[in-house]
Amino acid sequence: MKNKTFDIAKMLRPSIAKLQAYSSARDEFQDAGSEHTFLDANENPFENGLNRYPDPNQIAVKNRLSEIKGIQSENILLGNGSDEVLDLIFRAFCEPNKDNIIINPPTYGMYKVLAALNNVAIKNVPLTNDFQLQTNRIIASVDKNTKIVFVCSPNNPTGNLMQISAIKKLLEQDILVVIDEAYIDFTEEKSWLQEVKNYNNLIVTQTLSKAYGLAGIRLGICYSNSVIINILQKIKMPYNVNVLTQSTALKSLENNATVEKEIQRILKNREALIVSLKKISFIETIYPSDANFLLVKVDDANLRYQQLIENDVVVRNRTNEPLCNNCLRITVGTAQENEKLIKNLVQLDN
Ligand SMILES: *Cc1c(COP(=O)(O)O)cnc(C)c1O
Repeated sequence: MKNKTFDIAKMLRPSIAKLQAYSSARDEFQDAGSEHTFLDANENPFENGLNRYPDPNQIAVKNRLSEIKGIQSENILLGNGSDEVLDLIFRAFCEPNKDNIIINPPTYGMYKVLAALNNVAIKNVPLTNDFQLQTNRIIASVDKNTKIVFVCSPNNPTGNLMQISAIKKLLEQDILVVIDEAYIDFTEEKSWLQEVKNYNNLIVTQTLSKAYGLAGIRLGICYSNSVIINILQKIKMPYNVNVLTQSTALKSLENNATVEKEIQRILKNREALIVSLKKISFIETIYPSDANFLLVKVDDANLRYQQLIENDVVVRNRTNEPLCNNCLRITVGTAQENEKLIKNLVQLDN
């Protein structure tokens, strides 16, 4: 391990350290398809495919992820979207009304919401003008109650990756580093997930909501060392990932050729979209993107956002976020959807 001074025991909330996990009926005998006669969980016995509780440990999905990602199952935790995973991280390590976390705006809005929900203070260290981490300022703002720094890479809403050297510096600090990789499948850059073997303070989150096209099933993934995974596993709701989600996720992970093809199409559409957006005179900047969306600076974001809505095209207005004055975030759609957007922008431009 590269961080020799980090001590997870000091990070953990005392009440969580003491907590005895709920042991569900299905914890002990998970093999629902086996010879066992299950009279342990007060389920309706008439089989309809959904009458049994889901596997609380999601073994089949984790095993498949383990194969694909080249990481042990013991390094994986699954949640009801990565939003649940992020909430679990707060609840495990941040004592309400005492601890604080660091975020780097403009970034994903849920970190702030989850901090408020858990009554945890936030230290905001904005990104630089080119949307990179201010590593020295982050490190300077760490105090004895700082538990976590959230790094979103590729970042939402700016679309860029964070520099490897900056993240490495953060990993040398005695705080947890959560790297949110919701958009990692859209970039050539490698994930940090293999580094959980080298850093005992690293947590990586991913999701099936974006590249995998499964936002509707809610499946979030967390990779970390087994000590952290066991802590999160202990505090999660026993049946947090339902049967339908587990079976749909498994099917998608068993055949990811479709996913790979769709990612390539989205990337191609993104490049085509950039070419078209460049021709619109009121678009001042198109920021480089390693994700499936583009952040663009326009002359008047509120006006353009409203005009697009009047033409039934909905984009995300980010003008009130730091460093995002007059910026819109546009998701890369199908070729047809992108054409509709462009047609409207060209009309507004005339
Ligand atoms: C969309 C998004 C998520 C949400 O993931 P779910 O798995 O759908 O909860 C997490 N992080 C970032 C940065 C996102 O943009």
